[in-house]
Amino acid sequence: MYELILVRYGELGLKGKNKSQFINRLVLNIKRGIKGLAPREVISTWGRIWVPVRDDLDQTIERLQQVFGIYSVSPVIKVEKNLSAIQEAALKVLHDALPQGGSFKVETRRPDKTFPMLSPEHTIQVEIRSEGAFVYGQVIPCAKGLPVGSSGRAVLMLSGGIDSPVAGWMAMKRGVTIEAVHFHSFPFTSERAKQKVIDLCQVLALWGGKIRLHVVHFTEIQKAIRQNCREEYGITIMRRMMFRLAERIAAENKAFAIYTGESVGQVASQTLESMYTINQVTNMPVLRPLVGMDKEEIIKISQSIKAFDISIRPYEDCCTIFLPDYPKIRPRLEEAIMMEEKLDVEALIREALEKTEVLEIIQEEIIS
Ligand code: ATP
Ligand code: MG
Repeated sequence: MYELILVRYGELGLKGKNKSQFINRLVLNIKRGIKGLAPREVISTWGRIWVPVRDDLDQTIERLQQVFGIYSVSPVIKVEKNLSAIQEAALKVLHDALPQGGSFKVETRRPDKTFPMLSPEHTIQVEIRSEGAFVYGQVIPCAKGLPVGSSGRAVLMLSGGIDSPVAGWMAMKRGVTIEAVHFHSFPFTSERAKQKVIDLCQVLALWGGKIRLHVVHFTEIQKAIRQNCREEYGITIMRRMMFRLAERIAAENKAFAIYTGESVGQVASQTLESMYTINQVTNMPVLRPLVGMDKEEIIKISQSIKAFDISIRPYEDCCTIFLPDYPKIRPRLEEAIMMEEKLDVEALIREALEKTEVLEIIQEEIIS
């Protein structure tokens, strides 16, 4: 019955060139989002985007709900501009929205606000344009945010846990293209742990289109820390090395920030003192979108984006394997610097980067 889907986006005060870039990006992301379904044109006109329907209304809407930058969508019937055709279409739309019957209104201009009116259950919208009359009755909420690719690029430190995939999703929601970095300590951490991160990237790719994943060979660094540094500073120094590596990878890939799944107070390395000591190794903005969230709220997002079942697969994490019995909750910067003097930091970084494997993870792999 429906021929078109009307796509609404937030314009956010964009004007001129910025606005057309934003819309072009969104159209591109919509095309990518519906890839694999029946091919069709995506039309951008009259300050709206229109996606034709091909017997796949529900599937198309589901895909559009995974495109950041879309605020809401409405399935639309297009008819000729005559009253009986519009009435007929309005009845169809109404029947679809209120199959059991009920009260409704037809949206019209009503400047006289004193006119008595009961609030209806449903609104039918009719837009009359030179091309025809467009009739619709539902407004389906979507993901909102900004189109991925409209806000530049950032590195996401992606573990196999619950938090960092959610942080990545929130980065993409603001239009950021993600360059994922995973620190892998083979053979202390297994191929399974790596596969888990690849699977998480495929989930993120449903929203971001394509994710490049850098799997950094972290084994030698962990060994060196274990051999040379006091055990209770192991996590602090390990995380300082992670940030140094993330910053290098960012610089090589034109990325201007580092995203992590850290929150305040979750674990020993997430006290403010700890974050302070770890953060000293980089000048790049470190963005922590989960910082104000409780675990419960994070899990809710993780479940809704279907990352949760992957994140809770049992696996060994390079952080937990070398977890000391008593990690330092208030690691001091001077102590960390002193202990790192025993390491050839530059050589370790160079070696880890040389052995880094880069994978391109695209959306189709999980869709097919
Ligand atoms: P997550 O659920 O994301 O694993 P977490 O609560 O387990 O987070 P930590 O282990 O302290 O917390 O890690 C904090 C952040 O550091 C992670 O959210 C992630 O951004 C980054 N991180 C930790 N381990 C790795 C890793 N092996 N590879 C890449 N990033 C990592
Ligand atoms: Mg973790």
